[in-house]
Amino acid sequence: MSARTYAIRTYGCQMNEHDSERLAGLLEADGLVPAASEDDADVVVLNTCCIRENADNKLYGKLGHLKSKKDARPGLEIIVSGCLAQKDRDLIQQRAGHVDVVVGTHNVHRAVELLHAARDGGRPVIEIWDEALDDAESFPSALAVKREVDFSAWLTIQVGCDNTCAYCIVPAVRGKEISRPFGELVAEVERLAADGVIEVTLLGQNVNSYGRDLTTSLRTDAASPLDAATAGAVWAADPARRARPLFADLLGAVASVEGIHRVRYTSPHPKDLRPETIAAMADHPAVCNHLHLPLQAGSDATLAAMHRGYTAERYLEKLVAARAGIPDLAVTTDIIVGFPGETDADFEATLEVVAAAEYDSAYTFIFSPREGTEAAVALEAEPGRAVDSAVVGERFERLRVVVERSALAKHRERIGRIEEVVVEGPSKRDASVLTGRTTQNKLVHFASDRPLRAGTLATTRVLDAGPHFLRGELVEVLATPRHRTRIPVAAG
Ligand code: SF4
Repeated sequence: MSARTYAIRTYGCQMNEHDSERLAGLLEADGLVPAASEDDADVVVLNTCCIRENADNKLYGKLGHLKSKKDARPGLEIIVSGCLAQKDRDLIQQRAGHVDVVVGTHNVHRAVELLHAARDGGRPVIEIWDEALDDAESFPSALAVKREVDFSAWLTIQVGCDNTCAYCIVPAVRGKEISRPFGELVAEVERLAADGVIEVTLLGQNVNSYGRDLTTSLRTDAASPLDAATAGAVWAADPARRARPLFADLLGAVASVEGIHRVRYTSPHPKDLRPETIAAMADHPAVCNHLHLPLQAGSDATLAAMHRGYTAERYLEKLVAARAGIPDLAVTTDIIVGFPGETDADFEATLEVVAAAEYDSAYTFIFSPREGTEAAVALEAEPGRAVDSAVVGERFERLRVVVERSALAKHRERIGRIEEVVVEGPSKRDASVLTGRTTQNKLVHFASDRPLRAGTLATTRVLDAGPHFLRGELVEVLATPRHRTRIPVAAG
């Protein structure tokens, strides 16, 4: 009998992509294999996100499509996981009774058990935890993870968010911040390195506040067995150390693991960017020269309405400090256009900050209310605060021009330089060239006279630049991948 198959559709951010890797690992541990296409899969997982616009409509559209498939093939099983499942638990059941399992963000690790329970019981199972349990079971480290890319791994170092950004639904669906124990994380990176991983991306909703919640648990008698066994032994047992690890400590420790060549992290909060983090980035060559520092808005009034916890001036001071401390640093950001009440003057202030910040690139978003957030509730009470869509469109375009101007200038400065890249594979647009990524997180599309596997370390000479990528040629292969790649990646 051939093995049952699965397909996972992921919506949203890297946390969700990482959760999908966890789900894939669980399903494969249960004997399933990846389906050739979603149409053939015996188990379809929709790992949802509620950040994006119309996420619910898209989900219900997709579920409607799956219903006709399930009518034709009753053996098809459907799991809905992720933020939208956490938020709309009952609604999904009401509107899509053919879903077998609804599982939330805090108990992803239970997905396969719940699928078995639904199968055995002959009825759908919904299990949503309101918060993550602070134990090993809740965290990805306890799971078999199937990585999408062999040479690179995501590491969730913290879940949840203690901030209250007015536009954001994350705190409601992901709960309060919980940091994973320091020692456990370092041990996990050591295992990844032994497995041939050379690049690690530390993930957290508010990644650089890592450790804030560890203060008490590490120094009191109430420390959990996990703290004692991992964080305690590795961190708190040394009386010379401060009471809790900072994000900078973790960054340094992970970057010092033998075999780890690159460390990235996302997403940090500007208010939590400490001098120690800048120093750790400067001191450890493995920490990439890239800082993603979400600005969101450049007007102090808008920043206050968003509850971002910094002013434009303070943000720029931090940026200056980071650039002064870390040579050749690339800086990227997120910006929201059209937050309710944003005036022309507010937007001009954003443009000024963006011009002063000289970003390497920016993710720009048009504000749209997310149900359940403070901004959505306020807008409902006062619809007149909505910014006219034509005005928003015009602002968005002006912002794009300013961002692309600095991005292009930054990229042109790199023409003629030799850049080290980690090869990702053939370029998506032109398979005759390879794509690699620099420490600054810039894509280099480059010609190569030989096939190179994903994960190869090489140097390239930059010959040309656009606002979103560099073009170049292979100079030298520095190291071939240590992991065993199943599918060789070749140029041409
Ligand atoms: S820091 Fe703000 S935007 Fe980021 S996850 Fe927390 S509440 Fe959302």
